Order: sequence, then structure tokens, then C-alpha cells
Amino acid sequence: MPHVVTQSCCSDASCVYACPVNCIHPTPDEPDFLTAEMLHIDPAACVDCGACVSACPVDAIVPQKKLTEPQVQYLQINADYYKEPHEDRSRIGGSATRPALARVTAAPRVDAKRGPLRVAIVGSGPAAMYAADELLTQPGVTVDVFDRLPVPHGLVRAGVAPDHQKTKQVARLYDTISEQAGFEYFLNVEVGRHVTHDELLAHHHAVIYAVGASRDRTLGVPGEDLPGSTSATDFVAWYNGHPDHADDRYDLSHRRAVIVGNGNVALDVARILTTDPDTLAGTDIAPYALEALRASRVEEVVIVARRGFAQSAFTVPEFAGLLDAPDVDVVVPADEAGLDPVSEGLAERGELDHAVTQKLRLLAKLTEPAEGRRRIVFRYLLSPTEIVGDDHVTGITFARNEIVVGDDGTVQVKATADTETIDAGLVLTSIGYRGVPIDGVPFDDSRGVVPNEDGRVLDAPGGAIAAGVYATGWIKRGPSGFIGTNKSCAQVTVRHLVDDFNAGLLARPTADAAALRNLVGQRQPAVIDRAGWQVIDAEERRRGAESGRVRVKITDEAELVALARTAEAPAVRNRTTLLRRKGPLVSS
Ligand code: NAP
Repeated sequence: MPHVVTQSCCSDASCVYACPVNCIHPTPDEPDFLTAEMLHIDPAACVDCGACVSACPVDAIVPQKKLTEPQVQYLQINADYYKEPHEDRSRIGGSATRPALARVTAAPRVDAKRGPLRVAIVGSGPAAMYAADELLTQPGVTVDVFDRLPVPHGLVRAGVAPDHQKTKQVARLYDTISEQAGFEYFLNVEVGRHVTHDELLAHHHAVIYAVGASRDRTLGVPGEDLPGSTSATDFVAWYNGHPDHADDRYDLSHRRAVIVGNGNVALDVARILTTDPDTLAGTDIAPYALEALRASRVEEVVIVARRGFAQSAFTVPEFAGLLDAPDVDVVVPADEAGLDPVSEGLAERGELDHAVTQKLRLLAKLTEPAEGRRRIVFRYLLSPTEIVGDDHVTGITFARNEIVVGDDGTVQVKATADTETIDAGLVLTSIGYRGVPIDGVPFDDSRGVVPNEDGRVLDAPGGAIAAGVYATGWIKRGPSGFIGTNKSCAQVTVRHLVDDFNAGLLARPTADAAALRNLVGQRQPAVIDRAGWQVIDAEERRRGAESGRVRVKITDEAELVALARTAEAPAVRNRTTLLRRKGPLVSS
């Protein structure tokens, strides 16, 4: 009876390393790891030991006999992955009786003779926390984590949809990481405003930028600034209680909303707009957002893509999850869901991408929508040309596209003279993110990332290495992948940082940790440290428990700062104690 990876897979590969028979793929050293939409357990090789269940930070792995009704489909999704024409991966490097184990990247060894390594990390989301964890595998290393927000965890707190609480569970791992000796938070401190990049570098051997990609990309069409037109990024931040967006207001009085772009963010937003608010009530959704959704008249969300179904940006697990939503119908007009000539050719040769094959299989399961239920409609081959309305959005006009095959064989689109206007009271653009430049740090404006070579920051795109400056996560590689993808990304960056330290390439800090605390305290008296965050976290959970919710997020900065000030000395545990704990690290 095999175990099965289900929807909340974060792809951090903890399960891969825990598995004694190497039956979970792709592993981080396999070529399709970065593009795979989830990890898969080989049902023929799984020995049912459950080691992966303990290791998984988001409870995504379930024994077959415990699969819930909506999870049953993941049996096939896992098994189908191994039907692809590749060698039986569980045997690569092993033998018939003794499978090879996945190759574990060795932790970087810090040369103790060079003294204690001190690193600043800017950002406190997944990329930052995995980098901190990797550094803290080494004795004597100190890591100072800076975030401009008064609360940590980046997109895990402010991006992951509230109905994906299993995914948000990964924050427990981050709390465990931050409890280690050598770790400190400097929250509510903005680099470039309260402290400069040069000051950070002077107080540490190295600075790692893990600031993500916080700006949404824009369409550049007329009407984008009309009230009622906004970015999915802002809308997500609003319902997730991001302090910068707690005062935003959305008019949800029109029966239809349109989302441009069909990545996972679009699916998140569509779900939140159409889910029965009662099912969100127990989550950590911002209270004001829950109230607004209860009063919402939105009945239909239209998700519009410029290319065809085979190029859909959403992933298989998210699409599968959407189709299982109990109170929402999913509609994909048959005349827009056909395969383009390139995909058709691949399908005929049995070479169609695994994910596209799975999405087509799910599409075939769609049933007729029922009258009176909320619905999510997927539309294809439409490019926005104008957001219409006088003093508020009333709709959005699209040019109908036709598929053309580029010289390089890729599927592209060309606008035809046909247009279509869809009436809507809310238009959300969900067309990806880009990074924001940081004062004093090189920036590649064309890609929206910090220019780097495997995490070593360059003084310009294609330029020389900027000593002591590193990047990881979305600001390093662009906005792609899942929460756990940041783990292997951070491992690469940290390995280079440690190599550079060991080679004597990093300048010694010019002042000690106390001097840094003084400097930050003078510039930003409202700084929040680890102990402060622990008080805030406990209080949010306490308020949640009182009202039958996971937590009630506090969104007012003054209240967060006041709470943090009541903190006593933080609880610090050493890594050995943490690792010795029974069960998964995240179960604390
Ligand atoms: P995304 O996956 O990159 O999707 C962007 C979408 O915008 C695509 O459909 C793209 O179409 C479209 N687009 C781009 N420029 C456009 C334009 N000018 N006009 C019309 N459409 C345009 O971005 P995302 O949804 O923001 O997600 C970012 C990353 O976060 C992804 O890796 C995603 O998987 C991840 N994420 C994961 C989860 C989860 O696992 N639950 C949740 C949220 C986000 P083309 O393909 O034609 O360019």
C-alpha cells in the first residue's frame, strides 16, 4: 500500500532525503526538479515506511488507505509520473535488491579557523529562512534576518491563500529555524531606509538578499488605473492581512470579476472570491476581508489567458484542487480548450508534457455546471486591450488571438481583428511579479532580479562579482517555483558564500553585534526582534483559539509594535536539541 503525495506538496524535497528507498522523484539533482509541479511517490517502489510523512513540512503525504475522497485522484497523478519513458529512477545507481539513495547535498563546512561567520539576510520569507537554516547547520554562525514588515515569513503569511492552511504550516518550520542559537530578527527595519546596504555589509561578512519579487507586472493598457482595476498581488495582500493593505477597500457588488493571467495566483484569487465564506471563517483570513466576502455579490470569476489550454500556467495540483471545490462549478468552453498544432503533434508522438497530459485528463472530468452555483470560467486566446468604465470599471475588452508557431517552434499568439468585451465590476491582473531595486544593490531592470551567478551578486548583468553580496529566491531567479524550491536555491547560494568565506574573500565585520543593535535601535526604535515576534505569534493564536480560528492576524503596525515591547528574553534552543526531537521538526 503506497504513500501518495497530495495537493499541498511544497517541493522542498525533505521527503526525498527521508525516504530509505529513493522512491520520490524528481530529486533536486534530477533535471526536471525545477520544472516539476510536485513530487511523486513511485507506487511500485514505496515500502510504506512513513518516513516521508514525518519529514514533510506541509502534511502533503498520505498513506493510500487514508486518502480522502478528493485526494484519491493523487494516486493516479503519482503513478502516472512513473509511466513516462525514463529509467526506473529508484534503481539509478543501486541494484535490484538495494536501491540507491537520493544524493544529499553536503552541508557547507565553515572553516572555523577564520572565526565566527556573520551573515545578514534581507527578507524573512521561505528563501530567507531556508538560507538561514543552511547557514545554521554550522557551529558559531550568526544570522541576522531583516524585514521591512513587523511580522516575518513573507509570502507564506501574506501570499499563500488562507484556504491552504496545510501549506501555511511550513511557517512552523521557520519558527523552529528561528529558535536556534545564532538567529536574530530585525523586523520592521527597512534596508535602504533605516540601515543602508553598506552599513549591513560593514557589520557582517556577507549580506544575502532574499527579498522576493514584490511588484506586480502591469498590462500597459488604457483604463488600468480605474477604480475596480487592481493587481492580484494587492488583492492577495489585502485578504491576507498585509499591514500595507489593511485599509484597502474592494467593491464586490458586481456579479462578475475578471482575472487576467491563469497562473496559480489567479486560481487562488478565483477560489477566495467564489468559496463559501463560512468555509474560510476558521482560517487566518483577515477579518475585514471575511466580512467583505460575506457581503460579496460576485457569482462568476472569469480567468482569461492569452494563449491556449496547453500553455495554461496553473499547475496540476491546483487545477485538481479547484475541480474538487464543493460549492463552485468550473467551466472551460470546449471551443477554446482544444490543443494547438504543436501540442497536438507532441500528443500524437506520445511526447506531450506530463503536466499538460494530466491537465487534459482533469479537463475531461468536468461536469455540466449547475444552475445557481458560483462558477469559475476559464477563457483562452484573449489578450486585454482596454479596461473600460468612466469612474469605475465596467468591463474589459480583449482582442481574440490565433495561435502561431514561432520560428523557434514555440507556441505564440497573434491578435486578430475580433474583439470581445466582458462585463465586470472588478478586474484583477495576475500576470506575474517582478523584483524591486534595493538602494546600493545592483539590479537587472530587464529581468526584475538582482544580477547574479548562482547566487553571487554581480555588479551589473554579466559583470564582476560584488564581494560579500548574495541573492536567493525570486530576487535571484525570478518568480517561479514553489515554496520548497527555495530550499535548494538557498543551498546553492549558501554553498558559494561559505566557499568565499573559507577562501578569505569576505571582509571581516568592522563592528560587533552590539554595535549593530545600537545602530538599528537608534534609526528604528520600533524594531521587533525574535522575542517580539514570539509574543505577537502567541497573541494571534490566542485570539484565534478564542474565536475558533487558526489565528487572528493583527494588521495594525502600532499594535504589533506595542505587543512586541511586552516581550521577555527569547527562548533559544540549540540545533542538536531541535534535531533530536521526536517526529518532524515542524510538529512543535
Ligand atoms: P505565472 O505562473 O507566471 O502566471 C502568469 C500568467 O500571466 C500566465 O498565464 C501568463 O501567460 C500571463 N501573462 C503574463 N503577461 C501577460 C500579458 N501581458 N497579458 C496577458 N497575460 C499575461 O504567475 P503567478 O500566478 O503570479 O505565479 C508565480 C509563481 O508562484 C508560480 O511559480 C506559481 O506556481 C507560484 N505559486 C504557487 C502557488 C501554489 O503552489 N499553490 C500559489 C501561488 C503562486 P503566458 O504564459 O502566455 O505568458
